Amino acid sequence: AKSDSSSSYRLYDADIKDSRAERRALEGALKIALENKELELFYQPILDLATNQLWGCEALARWKHPTKGMISPLQFIPTAEESGLIGPMGDWILEEACSTAMTWPQPFKVAINLSPVQFRSRDVLASVKTALEISGLPAQRLVLEITESVKLTDEATATLKRLKALGVSIALDDFGTGYASMSYLSSFPFDKIKIDQSFVRGMMDSPDSRAIIKATIGLAKDLKMSTTAEGVETEEQLNALHLAGASQAQGYLIAKPMPREAIAAFITNLQGT
Ligand code: C2E
Ligand code: CA
Ligand code: CA
Ligand code: CA
Repeated sequence: AKSDSSSSYRLYDADIKDSRAERRALEGALKIALENKELELFYQPILDLATNQLWGCEALARWKHPTKGMISPLQFIPTAEESGLIGPMGDWILEEACSTAMTWPQPFKVAINLSPVQFRSRDVLASVKTALEISGLPAQRLVLEITESVKLTDEATATLKRLKALGVSIALDDFGTGYASMSYLSSFPFDKIKIDQSFVRGMMDSPDSRAIIKATIGLAKDLKMSTTAEGVETEEQLNALHLAGASQAQGYLIAKPMPREAIAAFITNLQGT
């Protein structure tokens, strides 16, 4: 639905040509990037608030461009979706993240973002099964994050149920930012709700944000779902979220996303203390 977001900039024909050419160039570069292994996964720690222990990490894609430097997933995931590259890219992300999680201590889980396009066009069930088989990761250690952009058709719901039957958990990402959050929640038994960082960012100043967070946590508890608060940047937010009963916290306060080697060192450090 976001594929037309650039249309407001298309004032002249030249711009149209430019943006098309640009997009094609980006697609080409992205294809080469995938072949040349310029994509990398970063991992951001997630803290379990009940135990104050590490719960696991979310895998976040990065493109280390040889000349342009680090490119954000917000920039290249849409291009990957439009060009169909998200299929092979998504498979690589699943395998890479599961293999990395295998190097972590047993209880630590890994959360992976699934694109709606990947979900629609790919046999996601087969992709996930393959990643688990190749890596040897137990399904119980894998969480798949989807957003409301995944349309919960009968087919999609059936796929999610099969994934859960494998032992994989399903999280609803960016909760509260879409149009249909409530009906979405009632359409599928998610294991976890991720509270969007826009609410966490405002929570110390805005009673409304606090009310939404509190209500979301209460709702999740009644539905037997856990909650992860995203974008936690201050001790104040962390304490308030703990008090409000959030299950987990993720954000720069705990740690920024980091490469595979750095996360290994981070985990070793934690265990040493
Ligand atoms: P997301 O799934 O909501 O991921 C959380 C984003 O918030 C990440 O941005 C993370 O770096 C950032 N973040 C974490 N803690 C903080 C904080 O305390 N403050 C602030 N300001 N930001 C924080 P990132 O890595 O740039 O990813 C952006 C989005 O790109 C993700 O949002 C996700 O929708 C998408 N994405 C990332 N990796 C993948 C992937 O492997 N596959 C797919 N399909 N999408 C991905
Ligand atoms: Ca996510
Ligand atoms: Ca999110
Ligand atoms: Ca997001």
